[in-house]
Amino acid sequence: SVPASIASALSSGAKKGLLFKGGAVIEAAAKTEQIAFDKTGTLTYGRPAVTDIVKLGDYTNDAILEIAAGVEAGSSHPLATAILKKAESENVSIPHSSGSKALMGKGVEAIVNGTHAWVTSPKYAFSNKVIDDEVMEIAASHERDGKTVVVVYRKNEPLGLIAMRDEPRKDAADAIAQIKELGITPIILTGDNERTAAAIAGGLGMEFRAGMLPKDKLEHIGTLNLAGSVMMIGDGINDAPALKQAAVGVAMGSGTDVALETADAAILRDRVTDIPAMIRMSRATMANIR
Ligand code: ADP
Ligand code: MG
Repeated sequence: SVPASIASALSSGAKKGLLFKGGAVIEAAAKTEQIAFDKTGTLTYGRPAVTDIVKLGDYTNDAILEIAAGVEAGSSHPLATAILKKAESENVSIPHSSGSKALMGKGVEAIVNGTHAWVTSPKYAFSNKVIDDEVMEIAASHERDGKTVVVVYRKNEPLGLIAMRDEPRKDAADAIAQIKELGITPIILTGDNERTAAAIAGGLGMEFRAGMLPKDKLEHIGTLNLAGSVMMIGDGINDAPALKQAAVGVAMGSGTDVALETADAAILRDRVTDIPAMIRMSRATMANIR
């Protein structure tokens, strides 16, 4: 009977770490035509590591790192964690800071050692005339390599660039190939820049939309939904509204409680291949009913 088939899918899914919040979610998941992924922490490990520090003035690498760590001390963003970790491994002491303020999807600012300082995307620093075309091109050369770059600066005074790399999960390419085989279109929606997104998306063989603020992701999910049922995979606090907007919002593994609360489903193991597994299971369950 109908309930028996759904009930058995719910329980056998749970045993594999695939959680559906009810039978209606299985029905909706079976109809998925597009899957939108957040990049950081879902397709990638979400643990970027600092690879390069580029001096833009008279400050040493350690001085750049020190100010950046001071600014990021009040942030829980993966990029902040990467910078604080690097400061620790270089034995750079983290200066006193206060008034930390997140610039949603752009960076963070704080008062460090009594002076206002910023760590932001190159795009934001450029739009505020802190860096010029020449520095933008240095940043771009790292971004084309798949790295994310931030600018460390004081009021109108660029100090340096910090480049970080976040590796794609080892099963991400396989998962994307499986999704395409199921006839579903995968796409990355990210707040990261165009070049970094292109490098990651190209490596995985999928499309992308970059430079998206949280509200842009939300709007874009709405647009995609018109063309066919969208499943959204996310982990961060930023993703909660987009998860809600999608026909099926899926929270991934080590994600935040906020994402888990908002989502319709969750994969408890950090395995991207569990997404196509979830689709196959939903389709098989619905086929049984019909
Ligand atoms: P994603 O979609 O990859 O999760 P976010 O919306 O979290 O991206 O961030 C987008 C961009 O905003 C980052 O690539 C970075 O340039 C900038 N940014 C956000 N938070 C920080 C931070 N704490 N420090 C520096 N830059 C940040
Ligand atoms: Mg994010």
